[in-house]
Amino acid sequence: MAIGGALGCMSMSYGNTTVCVKSAVVVRSRRVPQWRAQSIAQQKSKSNQTAQILLSEFRQASATPLQRLRQVSDDMTAEMHAGLLSEGGSQQLKMLPTYVEHLPTGDEEGLFYAVDLGGTNFRVLRVQLGGKEKRIMNQEYQEVAIPPELMLGTSKELFDFIAKTLADFVATEGEGFDAHSGHIRELGFAFSFPVLQTSVKSGIVIHWTKGFKIDDAVGKDIVAAFEEAIGRKGDHIRVAALVNDTVGTLARGRFWNEDTMLGVILGTGTNACYVERADAVAKWRDPPPKSGEMIINLEWGNFRSPHLPRTFADEEVDVESVNPGDQWFEKMVGGMYLGEIVRRVLAKIAQEAGLFGGSSSPKLFEPFSLSTPYVSKMHSDESAELTEVAKILEDVFEIQSTTFQERKIVHDVCDILAERGARLAAAGIVGILKKIGRDGSTTNGSQGLKNSNGKTVVAMDGGLYEHYAQFRAYMQAAIEEMLSETAAKSVVLELSKDGSGIGTALLAASHSQYGTVF
Ligand code: ADP
Ligand code: MG
Repeated sequence: MAIGGALGCMSMSYGNTTVCVKSAVVVRSRRVPQWRAQSIAQQKSKSNQTAQILLSEFRQASATPLQRLRQVSDDMTAEMHAGLLSEGGSQQLKMLPTYVEHLPTGDEEGLFYAVDLGGTNFRVLRVQLGGKEKRIMNQEYQEVAIPPELMLGTSKELFDFIAKTLADFVATEGEGFDAHSGHIRELGFAFSFPVLQTSVKSGIVIHWTKGFKIDDAVGKDIVAAFEEAIGRKGDHIRVAALVNDTVGTLARGRFWNEDTMLGVILGTGTNACYVERADAVAKWRDPPPKSGEMIINLEWGNFRSPHLPRTFADEEVDVESVNPGDQWFEKMVGGMYLGEIVRRVLAKIAQEAGLFGGSSSPKLFEPFSLSTPYVSKMHSDESAELTEVAKILEDVFEIQSTTFQERKIVHDVCDILAERGARLAAAGIVGILKKIGRDGSTTNGSQGLKNSNGKTVVAMDGGLYEHYAQFRAYMQAAIEEMLSETAAKSVVLELSKDGSGIGTALLAASHSQYGTVF
């Protein structure tokens, strides 16, 4: 039985015959007095007007006009300078020297492993490197979701889990991978949280981000904790390099293109690193590296500036997070938070303007019920009726029926917030380019950095950047808006796919105790 169309006809099937009877519901609805129908229509239109006002206020509060972007990028440059001066970095940017002495050149050979602990996923992988000609001959990886209880547990629990996954993966090593006889397997460890490195293969956890909070690990050497867990499993594999995921991304970019100077992550969280002149790192006390260059991890997730367009939703997300007061930039840009900010804005418009007919969908008021991949799906809905938006509102929030105007508001909120995040990330990149004289504002070009043949490649990685086309487009547009035409042409944002994983294996190779070429 199905309710029929305009005639208010209820179809009923008897064998092969379909008859049409008047629907009681429809008949009753015809009796709605005119004054009441008018009042419902007026209410709807008033509620839509209020929703439009709230939307436009929110659009204003989140705006990132060029002037504001310039202020943000100038503040980023200033904070970078401050962070390079003092031991613990500036209040915001830690500017951590990474001890990476050799970026891969393409000459590396042999079998190398990597463990990549991000914010959402944890990957183990192996690559077989064949030198300049063959480069990456073979690669395999396995991705495992991190059980949520391990994010708030103990260091031993987390590392036992990682070591076991690694051991199981090593056990599946087969054809196409050739461990050098007599060599212990070597591993790069990408650890995407703030660490004060003490050498290329040791570092102390400063604090956790992205929803992790494992208190007993703070202040301890993360590689020692990992190697102890590997030892408990009795495996013969050693950590050759401890790597921030941004540095892995930079390394993966450099392996293919020597103009790569920056590594940027836009995934669960966000961060960036870049190649700096060693003599610009005033806080460095050890002898300078032979190369004269250093890779600095900004930890820009913790950047803040009075010019950041923060809204009520950012405030709420921050206050209710496990690290209130920290990581403001990350909380406005990173994939972990984007969906949640969109949800909070929609919930507010529902509450204050009766969006979705005032229907109180409990899911709409449940924190983190909307993840960022849904934001990008709704944002890329180009259908005339926004049918994908309707479907996601139903699937995620259990809101069964929506008007076109409501769906358009949802689409607009996704657009406003993706644009804001992308433009802020672009402003951050321009801030770094300015610091190394690659933004076209100075005539002394690379300020003594070696490879300055005109191009500056920014290696990009992370699920947000890789899978969110509008986000990428907004970033590119903002870079072009901020830089002169010539400078913009010389700056290339390049996806360094799985840079944090493969790049980390490449860094294990370029820091191998057996040398890079056998
Ligand atoms: P990690 O941050 O754990 O290293 P990734 O770089 O793969 O992992 O990023 C995962 C994050 O990327 C997810 O948490 C999500 O926020 C974001 N993401 C994944 N897929 C999409 C998508 N289709 N659209 C937008 N964001 C996405
Ligand atoms: Mg990652």
